[in-house]
Amino acid sequence: MDSERILTQLRAEGYGFSQTYDDADVVVVNTCGFIDAAVEESLSTIEEAMSVNGQVIVTGCLGVRAEMLKEKFPDLLAVTGPEAVSEVMSAVHAKVPPLQEPLYHLLPPGGVKLTPRHYAYLKISEGCNHKCSFCIIPTMRGRLASRSPSDVLTEAGKLVEAGVSELLVVSQDTSAYGIDLKKHSDLMTGDALRPDVCSLARALGELGVWVRLHYVYPYPHVDNLITLMVDGLVLPYLDVPFQHASPRVLKMMKRPASTEDNLARIKSWRQRCAELAIRSTFIVGFPGETEDDFLQLLTFIREAQLDRVGCFVYSPVSGARANDLPDPVDPLLAQERLEELMQVQAEVSEGRLRNRVGSQTEVVIDEIEGDTALARSYAESPEVDGVIRVAGAAAFSPGQRVDVKITGYDAHDLNAEALDT
Ligand code: SF4
Repeated sequence: MDSERILTQLRAEGYGFSQTYDDADVVVVNTCGFIDAAVEESLSTIEEAMSVNGQVIVTGCLGVRAEMLKEKFPDLLAVTGPEAVSEVMSAVHAKVPPLQEPLYHLLPPGGVKLTPRHYAYLKISEGCNHKCSFCIIPTMRGRLASRSPSDVLTEAGKLVEAGVSELLVVSQDTSAYGIDLKKHSDLMTGDALRPDVCSLARALGELGVWVRLHYVYPYPHVDNLITLMVDGLVLPYLDVPFQHASPRVLKMMKRPASTEDNLARIKSWRQRCAELAIRSTFIVGFPGETEDDFLQLLTFIREAQLDRVGCFVYSPVSGARANDLPDPVDPLLAQERLEELMQVQAEVSEGRLRNRVGSQTEVVIDEIEGDTALARSYAESPEVDGVIRVAGAAAFSPGQRVDVKITGYDAHDLNAEALDT
């Protein structure tokens, strides 16, 4: 989203974009510094841009380590941290002055997006108030800073006006949205819109597009979001990063909502909203994780019956407090645990997909691949979940909504045929 804001501002000021380093007057590298692998990737991108072009501005998470960057790459034009669109623009202006007549009329209403036209990510806050021991986001991005409801709704309205029909709500902690804001009057709607996630999700749902929520922690007030799903205002889909199921490990991880009974909560959500799809992520091999902790996690995976799961082996992040924890898990054992967990989840996911065969659902076509249209229903988020392959691509185009019948499945994806074309 930082990239999209920078691109939007560049386009608004009349700058063009180049597909290659060679053709560019200046290169802006947006970096990630969350895990060591991302740092490595960012450094190699900077190195490549420096060697091919030489006029490079670095922004994003890794920018908070400006001294390290300047030591490695003394000729960088500028280094900024995350959420620093105006600093990036100043650095661009210094190297390539803007045109006298900005081409505002060339700017699409929703700004420049990197996602396909029919869906867009909507960032509702930045930073985080938690202190998960494996994470350095609060250090890099600061404490929770929610955007005002009117600001978010204005951006959402522009996106919808520009043709977006699915909003993917993201942040570091979506359930915490607004706790840092006082109740205030929303002049855009004429109503007092409370700055909390349920009020915001309801207002977004009233725009008449799909609204999908990511990074929701299982706090009790999330139950109110289920009401919005039952009412059809928000997609019955939740991305809840549980990360583990052993209370001991969750405590060592210092996870939010670690004392909640997550199995009971999932059960009650599904009692109220039977079609709810849940995705989650887990970490295995966290320092101090015992065989018993891991078995508790496997039991949770079997009982929770989550639709989609991502799993990672714990990897230390420079600056994270978990690095100081005793009893590291042997990397080979951690890898074995990951494979065992994914094997158990594969059986769960396959069962969930099998249960959908014969059902009818609305899908959105994302892209055409040969004779097949790759689509998603409410239960699949782009890029992270599986797809629904709809036969007869010639009849469809990206962004189109189609009613389909699910006809088959494999480990990750579903097959379907259109009901009326
Ligand atoms: S909730 Fe934890 S993992 Fe997520 S951003 Fe905050 S500190 Fe990091």
